[in-house]
Amino acid sequence: MIKKPNFTTDIVIGLEIHVELNTNTKLFCSCSTENTEEPNTHTCPVCLGHPGSKPVLNKKAVDFAVRLCLALGCTISRNLIFSRKNYFYPDMSKNYQITQYEVPIGTEGKLRISDEKEVGLVRAHLEEDPASLVHPAGMHSSPFVLVDYNRSGRPLLEIVTKPEMYSPAEARDFMRKLITVLNYIGIFDQDHCIIKADANISIKETGYVRSEVKNITGFKEIERALKYEVERQKKDFEEGKKFVLDTRAWDAENGVTRRIRTKETEEDYGYILDPDLVITEITDDFVESIKKEMPELAQDKVIK
Ligand SMILES: [Zn+2]
Repeated sequence: MIKKPNFTTDIVIGLEIHVELNTNTKLFCSCSTENTEEPNTHTCPVCLGHPGSKPVLNKKAVDFAVRLCLALGCTISRNLIFSRKNYFYPDMSKNYQITQYEVPIGTEGKLRISDEKEVGLVRAHLEEDPASLVHPAGMHSSPFVLVDYNRSGRPLLEIVTKPEMYSPAEARDFMRKLITVLNYIGIFDQDHCIIKADANISIKETGYVRSEVKNITGFKEIERALKYEVERQKKDFEEGKKFVLDTRAWDAENGVTRRIRTKETEEDYGYILDPDLVITEITDDFVESIKKEMPELAQDKVIK
């Protein structure tokens, strides 16, 4: 059942941003996160998903996630709980991704993007990155795909905003401010880490039927992708096309979005709690010790 949206603006945008945390090792094993030319060299049974291998949580990744939650004014969960998101993709050899679902590490919070505008956050959660799929002759013409597991298991923090951005430019400003904060609190390295966004976008004309545009890298691309998508939706609407929730990929090379599938819902992933990862308590002492180490923060100082 889709809730009827309650918007009045011409465009509504919400973002899910994946930030790669700048730890030395992966989220659940001790493999290096360093970038290397040589594929499949930073791997072990855990990040290759071998049977019997057990994940061990990287404390530094939790420390970094807490830092960002503090910087964005999120409520920090007292318990760290991980779940398995089940699906089949060649970039996840276990056929599930370890992520947080029921209880994310951070909830609520906000980011100020200009003097007049603040964007609310729904949640921030930790998860592992999938492997990279390499299409040697380009995304659409390559006859085969290679998999590089060096990236598999790197720590990501996913930040989900409320649908409170009303233009592609505001989405760009959000990304830009977020990168500033990430750099300021020392959990992100622009030269080494990846930041990617999936954007939900809809327009008034269609009754705000959303499409999700996946895999947008960087703040310049986000504005470009969303501008294209607004025009695409308007044109399809004028041509009388039917609108359904769909998932699209941003093709930066050609400057277009392409439908990849109709949208699945979260229930389709059959989440279960991960029995290999015990529930870890985030104590007040741990949070306080991180607070003390952080630069004098607060958004107010960073964001002006
Ligand atoms: Zn590993």
